[in-house]
Amino acid sequence: MSITVPPPTLEDLLHEVSDACIGANIDLIKKAYTFSERLHHNQKRASGEPYIIHPLSVAMILAKMNMDEQTIAAALLHDTVEDTSVTLEDIEREFSPEIAKLVDGVTKLSAFTQSNDHNISSSGAFKSRADKQAENLRKIFIAMAKDIRVILIKFADRLHNMRTLTYMKKEKQERIANETLTIFAAIASRLGIWKMKWELEDLSFSYMNPEEYNNLKKLIDQKMADKEKIIQNTIAIITKALEEDGVDVLQISGRRKHIYSAWQKINQRGKDFSEIYDLFAIRVIVNDIESCYKVLGAVHRLWTPMKNRIKDYIARPKSNGYRSLHTTVYGPGEEPVEIQIRTMEMHMVNEYGPAAHWAYKERKNISAQDEYPWVRRIMDWQKDSKDARDYIENIILDMNESEVFVYTPRGDAIDLPAGSTPIDFAYRIHTDVGHKCVGAKVNANIVPLNYRLQNGDRVEIITSKTANPSLDWLNICRGNHTKLKIRQWLKKERREENLLRGRDILEKEIKRVSRIDRRISEDLLSNVELLGKIAEKLNFTNIDDLIASLGYGETSITHVIQKIKNMLPKEPEKILIPAKKAPTRQDILSKGVKVKGVDNVLVVFAKCCNPVPGDDIVGHWKIGTGVSVHRRNCPNVQSDRLTEVWWIGAKTDRRYPVQLEIEAWDRRGLLAEFMNIINDLRIPTNECSAKVKKSKALITIGIEVLDKAQLNAVLRKLAKVNGVLSASRSALSEDITL
Ligand code: MN
Repeated sequence: MSITVPPPTLEDLLHEVSDACIGANIDLIKKAYTFSERLHHNQKRASGEPYIIHPLSVAMILAKMNMDEQTIAAALLHDTVEDTSVTLEDIEREFSPEIAKLVDGVTKLSAFTQSNDHNISSSGAFKSRADKQAENLRKIFIAMAKDIRVILIKFADRLHNMRTLTYMKKEKQERIANETLTIFAAIASRLGIWKMKWELEDLSFSYMNPEEYNNLKKLIDQKMADKEKIIQNTIAIITKALEEDGVDVLQISGRRKHIYSAWQKINQRGKDFSEIYDLFAIRVIVNDIESCYKVLGAVHRLWTPMKNRIKDYIARPKSNGYRSLHTTVYGPGEEPVEIQIRTMEMHMVNEYGPAAHWAYKERKNISAQDEYPWVRRIMDWQKDSKDARDYIENIILDMNESEVFVYTPRGDAIDLPAGSTPIDFAYRIHTDVGHKCVGAKVNANIVPLNYRLQNGDRVEIITSKTANPSLDWLNICRGNHTKLKIRQWLKKERREENLLRGRDILEKEIKRVSRIDRRISEDLLSNVELLGKIAEKLNFTNIDDLIASLGYGETSITHVIQKIKNMLPKEPEKILIPAKKAPTRQDILSKGVKVKGVDNVLVVFAKCCNPVPGDDIVGHWKIGTGVSVHRRNCPNVQSDRLTEVWWIGAKTDRRYPVQLEIEAWDRRGLLAEFMNIINDLRIPTNECSAKVKKSKALITIGIEVLDKAQLNAVLRKLAKVNGVLSASRSALSEDITL
């Protein structure tokens, strides 16, 4: 997809800047332009255009956000240090330390560690592209924490590169689009810079899945065209009414839903295109809050509002700070139209989040760490992370979490990942509070440490000087960072125990896997050479450290086994085939199902449809064997010899196998993320396979659940992971004979 707007000129930029701010330092911008133009003089973009078009376009994007002159100058200079002979010192001397810092923030690490997939870094170690990407990202995060404008320049840079991506090779397009979606759009979302997030998402999507993008775009455009007249008509009527009421309108226009978010609604929430009502809306921007309500009054005087569709997000802002009035009315021709009403200031915050305070009027220097608790948090992790990749992977995991907001006894708001416990809260307050935590009060009542915090809870931690963290906490707490802190303590204080436990875990798993995978045998435990290599691969100095790390739960046993497998000759097809245990009589004589009219009958669960408690089920008499239980909609259910069956009894520990199918954009760490989610819910897995086609991954995971509620819970969580297109229970297979 290419957007064909003529590239901006210096004059356009100067206009935009002086429009936004009277008395803006135009000379500074002219100087930065001349400086940059001279340096990039001999360079061309992949499109064949002069290179200066790129920094100029990036500066223009920021000027449209009303950013200050320093940011715009830095945008003009942002590629000079990386791509030309000029140094940061030159920029500092020529311009200012402030501008040099901004440029430094978006400049990648020295070219020596850059370029191809494998080359040798200054430390002499081989660096993969992923390592370098992580190091560059970490550098941006650190710079952003000091000055939020760094990430705004980076977003504008990425935005322009994405708009002109059509000139790149296909493979590169897909890689960059994928990175943009999973990293940059996700960061924009965390920082509330929605406008950037939406545009980055739509552009990424158009390269990653051009077919679906174009189909959906066509559908939406078509629908817009159908409604164009109505929208224009509605706008005209509102404008006239407001004129008569004497309300000044700064802007009134139609807005279309973003394609990627429409697509997510359809694919992740299983909605039909016709069910998406908010495909477009009319947006009215006025001077002040009073005028907002006047507009609402005028609109309701003109047309009947739809029931339950009036939302006052000015009186009650959304938790992300969004403010606006919404109403859906039966407009001209009884057609439902959504109308959104807000002031310009609200509008800027709705589009750019707290960053709008920098851009809009105030231009106060916002420290990212004060304004964004998330930034403060990721800066904390930076101190604890072994290496850049570790750090970035944690951030990516975190970006995909939903959140819960709770309060300290003093009334300070704290945001935690959804599902957090008092332990997570304690560690967030201070590491020592975490270590010494023995109990908690929520809203003045004592709660167990595994209590799941709810929005608005007021949490007080009870500590004791003699208390210590315990290993169980790793299973209770939610946050990756909490786990890290607990593990650090365990690692330091419990070496012997860790070694014993780690050896035990390794022995058991190797024993188990050896039954499934012929390449693995128990004598592997004494294979010092192999274990040594694995330890090295995982960045441990020796085998003991690796084993201890298994013991305190920092390294996952699945990860180690996977590494071992990678070092052995390849096995065809599936990664892991589940152990087929002969069913015991206990298994067969199920306590979970009651068969109509009889007790003590043999019950088996059909393998074709894998019913779980909560499914609508039906029994099928098998002569001489008993009853096999199917889901009612299983194609293998025959009409004869049917009998009614019910799920009975209180919850037991019995688990039911079921297969999940997940389709997602492939990226590093994806499978690990899924496994983390499943492990966090403490659901056993028995099988996993993955296929990648055209950068789309199709992943099948066999899990064992207690019931349908748990199955749905895990599907919901998986569906929320960034890049996931669909997560579902495997379709009923028709080809299994009974
Ligand atoms: Mn650039």
